[in-house]
This record gives sequence, structure tokens and C-alpha cells, in this order.
Amino acid sequence: MINGADIPGMMPEELSDLVANEGFPAYRGVQLFEWMHRKGVFDPGRMTSLPADLKARLAAGGPLLPLTVGRVLASSDGTRKLEMRLADGAVVETVLIPEGRKLTQCISTQVGCSIGCIFCRSGAFGFSRNLTAAEILAQVFAARDAWRDGEELTNVVFMGIGEPLHNYENTLRAWRLLTCDKGLDLSLRRVTISTAGVVSGIDRLGRDTQGQAALAVSLHGADEAVRQRLVPHLKHTVRDIVEALGRYPLPPRRRFTIEYVLVGGVNDSDADARQLVRVLSGLRVKVNLLPLNPHDRSDLQPPLPERVERFRRVLVDKGMSVFLRRRRGDDISAACGQLLGEQ
Ligand code: SAH
Repeated sequence: MINGADIPGMMPEELSDLVANEGFPAYRGVQLFEWMHRKGVFDPGRMTSLPADLKARLAAGGPLLPLTVGRVLASSDGTRKLEMRLADGAVVETVLIPEGRKLTQCISTQVGCSIGCIFCRSGAFGFSRNLTAAEILAQVFAARDAWRDGEELTNVVFMGIGEPLHNYENTLRAWRLLTCDKGLDLSLRRVTISTAGVVSGIDRLGRDTQGQAALAVSLHGADEAVRQRLVPHLKHTVRDIVEALGRYPLPPRRRFTIEYVLVGGVNDSDADARQLVRVLSGLRVKVNLLPLNPHDRSDLQPPLPERVERFRRVLVDKGMSVFLRRRRGDDISAACGQLLGEQ
């Protein structure tokens, strides 16, 4: 039996097995994969190269996309936030971020999140469930309609709602699908998995992808007590995380991204910056500084602009590469930490 909702989460060879079980030649599975991943077609009736009886069999399995697009909000800076409604009524969000010739999509991996970083709105409502691999991929497929003239997806970041490494199998599968050469074929450097620091997941990802998965780690503190305050429910220490990165089989000329949300008066002093330099010494990293985006569920304050500049200076003077993440989509609550899944 074909279940339509699983199909976007299947690799070409798995689709070949599926159609072979239904009595069709294996290459029909690859054609089906290409219709979805290359051409963005999910209506079996429009898959003109497939035989009529396979199209009918697919149509009988139910929709090939396990979600529908709800509200779409467009920011004045070009960012678009799309609400995705899942079959069980749950809602996640995904964000399209254009920048020059690049189009980056930020995707969610869970409904809610159990990490509970104190500055992030996405976790403020608790955790409901993992997304399936098909649901993760379907966010990319369903967002095609929101691409503007001349836009084409170049980058994907697993930085939406949820902790990707708490949904390990489906995240890995989605990563393989996005980078599959028969499909979207995104470059390995342009698909980034972001984790709050789940050590066992970092180790697995290193092994399963031979270090090819681009990894971002949300550290937010070099001092154990500061990190503990900001990310209270994750047991791994800064030291555990840094050691896990040291074991990760990072290919030559690649670097980790370290994300650091700057919270006014909490982790934005010169001493914090110097400690961050010390903790990261010996690792190939670039640091992404994210000045806190405020939201209605938290009293934490953004850093003063001169603090951001000083913090950046300390890192740069020590020879680190540092990027200041510009806030995008703030007017539609699409910036980092503002995605909600509000009921
Ligand atoms: N759970 C993963 C994936 C989410 S990525 C992770 O923690 O990495 C989302 C990024 O936005 C993380 O680096 C997160 O720390 C950051 N973020 C969350 N809330 C924010 C806020 N209010 N302002 C700025 N950045 C925030």
C-alpha cells in the first residue's frame, strides 16, 4: 500500500523499492522522485511521464504533501514567514530569507521544543512532537509557491522551531534528501544543522555524515553558569560541547558556526568575550553574534549597540571571524527566537 504522506521523506532507491513492490519497474521510483524534488509537482495526475495505473495508485494513497500553507506574512525587508498546517492540526513555521542572489530557507524540525532556552519564544509553549522527514521536506516543497521571480533556493538552515538533534533520524534523512544529487542537490556547505548542544547527536552526525554535515552550535555562554542560566534544561556543559566539536571529523577548510545570542547584562561583557575566545581556541570556527530579539514572553533585554560593537571587537582583535546577524523579518515576528506555533 502506498501512503502518500510518507513519500516526500523517501530516498530515490526507497521509492524504487516501493514502486517495484507495486509491480512497476524500479526506474519509475526515480522518476517520481524527480517530479517532486526537481520539478515541484505533487499532483500525480500531472506527472506526465508516469503510466496511468501508477498515477492512479499514487492518487489513491492520499496527498503527497503532508501539510498545507496557512498564513503567509511578508516583511518590508523581503523576508517571508509561512505558517505550515500539519495533518493533525499542529502548526509550525518556516522562513524565506532573500539576500542578494541567495535564498535561504529556515525550517522547523519539531512542533514546539523541549530545550527551553530562556530567551526563545519557540520553546515557551513546550514540546508536542517530532516532525516526520516528509513534514520537514514538505516545508521546502510547499514554500516554492512563495518564491518570487528569479528566486531559487540556495541554502537551508535547520534553525526553525525545535531541536534538530532531538529528532535525529528524521533530521539526518531530511539532510540527505536536500543534498541528494537526483533532487534539489543543495551544496553540502549550504545546508546547516543547528543544535543547542546535544552532544550525543553531534557525535552521531559526525559519524553518519563523515563530518560533511555543516554544523552550527548555539553556545551563548563560555562560562558554565551563564550557559546554565540561558539553556537551563540541557545537561551538557560548555566543556562537553567543545570536546564534542573537537571529535567531529570536520573536513579541511570547513568551520563550525558558533551562535551566540547577546543578552544585555547577562553575557555581553568584555570578560565574556575574552572567555569565549579562550574556550574556542583550537577549534576552527566562525562566530555568529545575534543581538537578542525581544518578544512578549521574556523580560530579557537586548544588548546596547556599543556593547555589541565592543564584544565583536574583542573577538576580531583575537583573530576570530565574526559575523553580526542582521535582524530579518522582525516586523512579522520571523526573526530568530520569535517563531512560535501560537495556537
Ligand atoms: N534548537 C536549535 C535550532 C534553533 S536555531 C538551536 O538552538 O540551535 C535558532 C537560533 O536562534 C539559535 O541560535 C537560538 O539560540 C537563536 N535565538 C533564539 N531566540 C532568540 C532571540 N530571542 N533572539 C536572537 N536569537 C535567538
